[in-house]
Amino acid sequence: MVQHNERNGQVHLYLDDTYRFTVDTVVIATGQGEGEPWIALQDNIFHPQGGGQPADAGWVDGVAVTSVRDRTSGMVVLVAAGPDALPALPVGAHAHAALDREVRLRHAALHTAGHLVEALVRPREWVTESNNHFPGQSRVEFTTPDLSCVTSPEDRAAVTAQLRHGAREAITAGLTTSSRIDADGSRTVTIDTLHTVACGGTHVATLAELRDFDLPELRVKKGRIKASYSVEYEARLP
Ligand SMILES: [Zn+2]
Repeated sequence: MVQHNERNGQVHLYLDDTYRFTVDTVVIATGQGEGEPWIALQDNIFHPQGGGQPADAGWVDGVAVTSVRDRTSGMVVLVAAGPDALPALPVGAHAHAALDREVRLRHAALHTAGHLVEALVRPREWVTESNNHFPGQSRVEFTTPDLSCVTSPEDRAAVTAQLRHGAREAITAGLTTSSRIDADGSRTVTIDTLHTVACGGTHVATLAELRDFDLPELRVKKGRIKASYSVEYEARLP
């Protein structure tokens, strides 16, 4: 059976399971990108940077690596991220890959909270223009034909308060997220009944895993509404 998360000879396990932290697999390609050696693994648990989400971090056979999308092959490849050189593994060699769990879960929490912010403004029909899910700079930017609802400081404060309230309710309710990959390979992510959006990132399974969500007051700049936010990952109960 062809798996719909398979591309360029790789099965992207991160699309199916945010909590898959390790894998034993084989090297399917090696190469050089910008003078830097890389290896590609058949079963891939690493999310490459993209869609506003940073790359994962982890290890291959104990050597620190990070993931990038190789432009030539389209594969997700691993490059050394620390002082140690990438293991010299030939094609066909067995390799053990492991994710930095803390990094994975923090990124997944930030990314999911970004979708939550988008979900909460859906009734206002604001249009998402950009996403940034990097730690310390997470924000979603929106446009709307009518900015009058956020022009005055009082109105901005009122809308911000509504969004904070909505986020608190959704997190307390522990709404679940899910993803699906259609036959054409396109992937969508859904938060309960709130929101469905095309996305290739990693997400937490329920909003109950979000802790300390904070939404500073909305800002309006150059015709865009900027919703900055921060959140931490709350460990799932066993
Ligand atoms: Zn996403």
